[in-house]
Amino acid sequence: MKIVTTIQEVREQVKAWRKEGQTVGLVPTMGYLHEGHASLMDASVRDNDKTVISVFVNPMQFGPTEDLESYPRDLAHDAALAEAHGVDLIFHPEPEEMYHEGFSSFVDMTVLTEELCGLSRPVHFRGVCTVVAKLFNIVQPDKAYFGKKDAQQLAVIRHMVDDLNMNLEIIGCPIVREEDGLAKSSRNTYLNPEERKAALILSQAIALGAELVRRGETDCKAITDAMKTKIETEPLARIDYVKLVDAATMQQIPVLDRPALCAIAVFIGRTRLIDNFFTEDVGGAV
Ligand code: AMP
Repeated sequence: MKIVTTIQEVREQVKAWRKEGQTVGLVPTMGYLHEGHASLMDASVRDNDKTVISVFVNPMQFGPTEDLESYPRDLAHDAALAEAHGVDLIFHPEPEEMYHEGFSSFVDMTVLTEELCGLSRPVHFRGVCTVVAKLFNIVQPDKAYFGKKDAQQLAVIRHMVDDLNMNLEIIGCPIVREEDGLAKSSRNTYLNPEERKAALILSQAIALGAELVRRGETDCKAITDAMKTKIETEPLARIDYVKLVDAATMQQIPVLDRPALCAIAVFIGRTRLIDNFFTEDVGGAV
């Protein structure tokens, strides 16, 4: 496995693979890799001849008061995990490599970014779309892998690829959880032991919502109210949002009459965590 820091090195390597007729999968990450990321790498290694991962904490997708500086980083650990999972190339650029002086082009999206994380994090998806579009242009993969953990991100990327006629396939992978249910996240390292216990309220609320959907409840307010009441039993939790949205448009819906996404964001102390389920993944009626 190689680790490279420049766009030119990535291009040269991919060009050499292409000459040999190899297919290429891409897994974009911000590093501090865990089993959630590993599941994406495994899927890519399974589907493609070669797998590239990017490890880049993208400044453009962080708001001014967010955790860009404190975001955990450990390239040695990431390299060991990636190698163990059969990754062929790590692209680990400095911000200056991705955003040269005078950088002034952006990929922006309306509608799908208006709700959920887009509402709480106004610059986030412009940063995500721009960096992911750049990575697609740099690597030119056949397939790229994203986790359902970031469900709105997955929908936004699919939409961008469709809108802008990008020539690759987007693969969505299931959420990987800790044994007790907490969705794996690099940000879980921010939690102290008391907060780590409190954070279980997210997956418990998700399990409750999924159960209501399975039992045939179709009133979105009834579902989200029950989930909010559950989260409010945890003193360390502060709700950012609990919403049911159309799975394709990310717009709120009153009744479950189409495939939907139930998504939550909850602060545990100062750490903002997210979790979700797609109704079609939990045996919902539609
Ligand atoms: P990040 O490094 O947090 O930007 O995540 C990189 C990719 O890994 C994104 O597509 C995430 O959705 C995915 N990912 C992160 N955590 C998980 C998880 N627990 N299960 C599945 N995918 C995940």
